[in-house]
Amino acid sequence: MKYISTRDGSHSRTAAQAILEGIAPDGGLYLPQEIPALSREMLEELCPLTYQERAARILGMFLTDYTKEELEQCVKGAYDEGFDEGRPAPLSTLSDGTALLELWHGPTCAFKDMALQLLPRLMTAAMAKEGDGRQVVILVATSGDTGKAALEGFRDVPGTRIMVFYPQQGVSRMQKRQMTTQQGNNVSVMAIEGNFDDAQTGVKKIFGDRALQEELGEKGFVLSSANSINWGRLVPQIVYYISAYCDLAADGRIKLGDQVNFCVPTGNFGNILAAHYARRMGLPVGMLVCASNENDVLTELMNTGVYNRNRPFHTTISPSMDILISSNLERLLYELSGCSDETVRQLMESLSATGRYQLSENAMEQLRGGFWGGCCGEEETKATIRDLFEEYSYLCDPHTAVAMNVARQYQRETGDNRPMVVVSTASPYKFADSVLSALGRTDIPEDDFEKAALLERLSGVSIPAPISALRDRSQRFDACCAPAEMPDAVKSFLLK
Ligand SMILES: *Cc1c(COP(=O)(O)O)cnc(C)c1O
Repeated sequence: MKYISTRDGSHSRTAAQAILEGIAPDGGLYLPQEIPALSREMLEELCPLTYQERAARILGMFLTDYTKEELEQCVKGAYDEGFDEGRPAPLSTLSDGTALLELWHGPTCAFKDMALQLLPRLMTAAMAKEGDGRQVVILVATSGDTGKAALEGFRDVPGTRIMVFYPQQGVSRMQKRQMTTQQGNNVSVMAIEGNFDDAQTGVKKIFGDRALQEELGEKGFVLSSANSINWGRLVPQIVYYISAYCDLAADGRIKLGDQVNFCVPTGNFGNILAAHYARRMGLPVGMLVCASNENDVLTELMNTGVYNRNRPFHTTISPSMDILISSNLERLLYELSGCSDETVRQLMESLSATGRYQLSENAMEQLRGGFWGGCCGEEETKATIRDLFEEYSYLCDPHTAVAMNVARQYQRETGDNRPMVVVSTASPYKFADSVLSALGRTDIPEDDFEKAALLERLSGVSIPAPISALRDRSQRFDACCAPAEMPDAVKSFLLK
């Protein structure tokens, strides 16, 4: 199967090449030239299998230049003991029938693990096929979750190094602790004086710095990205939608062929796009509900056809969704425009020149047929955390609460009563402050681990092992630099 760029349909690569490059030379995103079909028979065959077996089969449909053995090995390594009880993506069902797809049982308690445990393995296999012997250096700018998940995914993976930049004031204390105590011999973590955008802009500048890349290239390093625009991060996410459907069917909650809806808490549009690809493969998915927090740029797009990033940026208690440029939307735009790379180029030029673009009538009609957008403010998010806990004894994190709230808005407004799966993207323990205050606690302890202990007493759900293990880890990375010093930080990490 060939992969093409959203901005140049004639530029084609193998899956391994697309994964190694991350982004196309024209700035576009790679996507498969056609979407493989999942027949009813194949879906039926997947049902009795384990998550790992389902994953190897589904990945094989997209990554056709990888052998079956390679994929099985990648999957086995990724979804092994790092995940609770060998069940990477379990469903929890509330008594009203709503199912939650919990994607945070991995080594960093965030849904990013689902992709970032697999991506380094896909990259290593790709290097063996297509590489030139140089080490791959992953640079990440993070607002919290991605950095830790990428560090854990690439830790001690042969032939790779990873350096993560995070905004000094922009991550939660637990997230900071997770990163600064990171273990591994090929990792580095650096705080940035500034916000997430400063960190992100700094990393982008390094990717655009030819002279620096040449200098590093001569020393045997090639830069790459573990950002969610990499196809190798998207493809693992298709698996859990299909797997969740199989679980619902295997549990007798639906009959094979029945449609289900998914509601996805959305930032960069990667997670929900993976659900859309599962639907295009033939998975019986009805509506995809796109949930945003106060940064409601996608809600507006779905309601009006206008994407407009010229709006205030809100810092919320669901920080992984505080995003005004949803990069992965570009892949959907390609499809909505009838695979016109020309249209995508125009829209993206308009976005970078004016901060906005408008979809055609035709594109809007297709978008409305498959997606419904809604948003949820801070107070509603907290109220949803409290309601879910009081009514169903289910403790959720703020990102999941946004999705739960929007899923209910959707059901109220449309009356659509197909089964709803709400995607749960982080452990409540990663956001203990917000969760405790949502529950109305005024006695929130100062110490992070006492907070976790209080949550444990309240909820009866044990503290995830990766969080309690942090208590005894010492800090390894305490450096901080200005955005302008980032290239030097990379050099001193690699060349020292
Ligand atoms: C990254 C993230 C999201 C947003 O996912 P996208 O793929 O960027 O839309 C939602 N919730 C959490 C907890 C995340 O870490």
